[in-house]
Amino acid sequence: MKVRCSLCGAEQEITKIHKDYQRLAREPEAVYICNYCSRRVQYQAKETQKPQRPI
Ligand SMILES: [Zn+2]
Repeated sequence: MKVRCSLCGAEQEITKIHKDYQRLAREPEAVYICNYCSRRVQYQAKETQKPQRPI
């Protein structure tokens, strides 16, 4: 199944073993985020959660 990343617009082919396959098959308009973007988002989330270092 062809899906398009909602963040970078890259097209990817996903198979039934992909964790989002069922969801995307049900609703084609569902948001899909590619591996690259999901890693980037997770990294950013981790960075913002970090408590600020005391000076
Ligand atoms: Zn992407």
